[in-house]
Amino acid sequence: MKSSAVSDRLGRQLGVLRLSLTARCNLACPYCCPESVEPQGLLSTQDQLRLIHAGCRLGVHTLRLTGGEPLLTERLWPLLEALSAGRKKLSDPLAQLKDIAITTNGSLLDDEKARRLRASGVDRITISLDAVDGGSIARMAGLRRGAGAGFDLLNKVLAGVDAARTAGYDPALGALKLNAVIQRGKNDDQLIPLARLARQKGLELRLIEYMDVGNSNGWCRDQVMPASEMIQILNDQWPLQSSGRPLGGTSRQWAYKDGGGIIGTIASITEPFCSDCNRLRITADGKAFTCLFASEGVDLRDGLRQDVSDLGLETMMARVWLGRSDRFSEERGTRPLANQHAEMAYLGG
Ligand code: SAM
Ligand code: SF4
Repeated sequence: MKSSAVSDRLGRQLGVLRLSLTARCNLACPYCCPESVEPQGLLSTQDQLRLIHAGCRLGVHTLRLTGGEPLLTERLWPLLEALSAGRKKLSDPLAQLKDIAITTNGSLLDDEKARRLRASGVDRITISLDAVDGGSIARMAGLRRGAGAGFDLLNKVLAGVDAARTAGYDPALGALKLNAVIQRGKNDDQLIPLARLARQKGLELRLIEYMDVGNSNGWCRDQVMPASEMIQILNDQWPLQSSGRPLGGTSRQWAYKDGGGIIGTIASITEPFCSDCNRLRITADGKAFTCLFASEGVDLRDGLRQDVSDLGLETMMARVWLGRSDRFSEERGTRPLANQHAEMAYLGG
């Protein structure tokens, strides 16, 4: 089955669907602020599948499962089983999916789960870790019991990295990466230790600028460390060479000149990449957001009613993308952002 990608009003083609499975999390990173309860009207597995089908018919080639913490919900597994079965049938729109990825904080990723993810067709895992020092991890993850709890979390996340590798996720093939949000004055002293850890483990580390998503994190510009500054610090230690940002990607790639692997920067604040954004986000309760910085999403639950055909649902989703003209990050500073915007853990980061 062949699909043709829809383009929005700025000529951007839909390519990536980020599906949030839950707004809840077992951590409480203060820069993210997850919900303690799920939103009303959580999508069923059947609903999720219908949305993914519709997305595939509109050009989605990559599905990223996220949250909140996606490994917290048991609904992950039946969804993956159905996706795996669908991808094997040439006539199924799911066969369009070239890539299924998951973003997790890694704390619940044990051998059994890593093997299950692999067996059910998840191609790539990104694990988030913002520090290597116990106290710093505890602050970044919102753990109240201090450095000891931070150290315990580090050990769980590192065990998760090992479990993923053992299950067949090969970092050299880009199948296993680390994400770190860097906040000035909070964990910028962790840049070198994080990079050292990633180099030792052969992992690509992706350094994310602190973003003004949501209303609860008290974001202020002073806490943003520009990616250029992060790179300067690392370059002084291990010289780096830029290899650019692939079209439609979020991360600019840098290679260590000593052959120590690669590192990425996601500079949504200082080097926005709205011009080739191909990402549609769907929340755990079925709202479609075309941008992380949008104040409102479009509720797709009407389209999920039994009496609405798959074509009807596809038309509804296509309308969301065709009408898109947002480029909030590029306009930052020239146009005020809406007062209310959705939280990162609800949107699915
Ligand atoms: N719980 C999972 C995790 O932490 O990887 C998945 C969801 S989390 C919302 C996805 C990504 O968004 C994580 O890498 C997290 O660090 C990042 N993130 C959350 N809030 C952010 C913010 N305000 N600015 C930049 N990145 C943020
Ligand atoms: Fe949870 Fe991920 Fe948000 Fe941290 S960033 S609170 S781990 S959803």
